[in-house]
Amino acid sequence: MPTANKTSPTKPSKEKAPSSTASKLAASLAKLGLRSDMDLVLHLPMRYVDETEITPMKQAAMQGGQMRQVEGLVTACDVQYRPRRQLVVTIADDDAQMVLRFLNFYGSQVTQLAIGTRVRARGEVRHGFFGSEMVHPDYKVVNENTPLPTQLTPVYPSGVGVSQAGLRREIRSAMGKINWQDTLTPALRAELQLCEFAEAVKLLHTPPADVDESSLEDRSHPAWQRMKFDELLAQQLSLQRAQAARRSKSAPSFSLVGEISNAFLMSLPFALTGAQQRVLSEIRSDLCAPHPMQRLLQGDVGCGKTIVAALAAAQALDNGYQAALMAPTEILADQHFRKIAAWLEPLGISVVWLTGSLKKKEKQAAREKIEAGTAQLIIGTHALIQEDVKFAKLGLVIVDEQHRFGVDQRLTLRNKGHDEASADKFIPHQLMMSATPIPRTLAMTYYADLEISVIDELPPGRSPIATRVIDQERRSEVIERVGAAAAEGRQIYWVCPLIEESETLQLQTATDTCAMLQMALPHLQIGLVHGRMKPAEKQEVMAEFIAGRMQLLVATTVIEVGVDVPNASLMVIEHAERFGLSQLHQLRGRVGRGSAASVCLLMYQGPLGLVAKQRLMTMRATTDGFEIARKDLEIRGPGEFLGARQAGQAMLRFADLETDQWMVEQARDVAQRLLKNQLPDSAAMVEAHLLRWMHNKEEYLRV
Ligand code: ADP
Ligand code: MG
Repeated sequence: MPTANKTSPTKPSKEKAPSSTASKLAASLAKLGLRSDMDLVLHLPMRYVDETEITPMKQAAMQGGQMRQVEGLVTACDVQYRPRRQLVVTIADDDAQMVLRFLNFYGSQVTQLAIGTRVRARGEVRHGFFGSEMVHPDYKVVNENTPLPTQLTPVYPSGVGVSQAGLRREIRSAMGKINWQDTLTPALRAELQLCEFAEAVKLLHTPPADVDESSLEDRSHPAWQRMKFDELLAQQLSLQRAQAARRSKSAPSFSLVGEISNAFLMSLPFALTGAQQRVLSEIRSDLCAPHPMQRLLQGDVGCGKTIVAALAAAQALDNGYQAALMAPTEILADQHFRKIAAWLEPLGISVVWLTGSLKKKEKQAAREKIEAGTAQLIIGTHALIQEDVKFAKLGLVIVDEQHRFGVDQRLTLRNKGHDEASADKFIPHQLMMSATPIPRTLAMTYYADLEISVIDELPPGRSPIATRVIDQERRSEVIERVGAAAAEGRQIYWVCPLIEESETLQLQTATDTCAMLQMALPHLQIGLVHGRMKPAEKQEVMAEFIAGRMQLLVATTVIEVGVDVPNASLMVIEHAERFGLSQLHQLRGRVGRGSAASVCLLMYQGPLGLVAKQRLMTMRATTDGFEIARKDLEIRGPGEFLGARQAGQAMLRFADLETDQWMVEQARDVAQRLLKNQLPDSAAMVEAHLLRWMHNKEEYLRV
């Protein structure tokens, strides 16, 4: 096991930090999120080291490769220069000696470790040239009577400017100041078989030497169980309270499903699938209610979420309100606009487009229509949440690919319909859409304040996508295959490798790939879209592809989300090993939208790392978005899954969603009972518990 700070010099520890450095320390602690005494107390060790025993050096020498603590008097202390500058200290006990070797050291250490000094050192015992030695041991100067700790020594998550000794000191001092009162009553603790808070925290900071170390390590120890439960309970309480708070707010009730909705449905060239009908009725009944809807519409790529969103918008319009749809990219916003405008404009609805790329005048015109209320349905990108955009009467906010937006962005859009000054303090309804299904535990812990609707059925006539994983070396075969597909009248996507380091390089690669393919397939019409193109240019190329005048579209990941061309049935992804699972799933979802059998070719460059291999195998094994999301969670963990901004403050520190799922459910039930006042002292417990665990973090969970 590595010791803390192995490579940096072991600074002689000072007893007390001078006050000039106190504010520096406070700043470093703040970086670790440690601001209050309670923060410090809840900063729990990641692991422990055992300094409770001294091993005689003779015995330690026979147990090479182990972490051991030895104690003895310095018999030699020299700075040597061969093979490189180093401090070599020899210490001896009754019948053996040990060399302590420091490759980085301070001059002060040479004086500190003068001959005759008693030193206690802890490190891995190795057999060096001059007998047994420790390289960069943790050590301290002691005297004959310095007691050994009777407890394991905690090792804390740490950062720049905070030493372990400093953390231990701060935590110890904070432990003397906080209110230890248990937030759960003895009756509830007994029911849940949980130990006391104080007992748990104290044990984790200072475990007795005889504690079952493995249960601390895998966090199954009752003390850890208590901390995890507390954390989960706080999260559940806060989420459920947010939900109740939302239900107490008002939103316009769209009780009329009228002319626009009906005419729209009648005009559709297809019938809704059963799943679409079901989620539509869920949304409709939410929209009728006088509280803001907060619903997540989930469904795998291609299942037909757009039409459901447009029908929701129609209901807002039927009731005299505006609706806004925000998408994460221009291409996607543009596609939504085309599709939805084609549906709704014939019915006399004013659909307005607003993105950053519009000319100044066009933007101005759009903004005026939005503010005057003549624009009924507004579709766009982040441009919708610019400050100068004001809505006359915004009643429904729709966010496509919601995980691409931060909490604050969604909040900003929602607040556009929430005019504090006006008489009706309505909050608009909110519909979020995502093709990335959220596994159940995640939904319960992070999205508990979302109603969830799932479209679990694809429109009829789709054929499954076959996925193949192919070595880059077989590129020429892949190109042949592209030619053959084009000859059959199919369309093809070719996704260029992701080059995260450099946008310029990415662009170059895309251009080169396009030229290479054009050379290999001279008869084909080939187009290129990439992130650096002007939106108008992008749209021109996309329009050619959509119209079928172009057979092959070479693209960077700009086509990742939402693009819908049913005649495209072959997807080639280069350097697939560089993409994440959900990205691959999204990309693959661009094909398989028509009746032709579709194929996705994942080209990779070997050798593959373990994670990349796992991802590609998952892709080959399944097209089920839920299964893929579950794997993704397993491989990447929830942080990345949610996107940093979304997870933000709400991250769980102690509980593990995989192994502690049962506890999530337990915490949810207890939170429900507490909030319904079903237990003695419910209200007091809720207040105390949230105060201890949530401080200022609640805001994040409310959106
Ligand atoms: P996504 O859920 O990925 O956003 P879209 O809304 O883009 O999917 O729909 C995918 C395609 O399926 C579109 O071409 C859409 O017009 C079509 N579609 C949607 N619903 C149906 C349906 N009930 N029957 C037939 N085609 C449908
Ligand atoms: Mg979509």
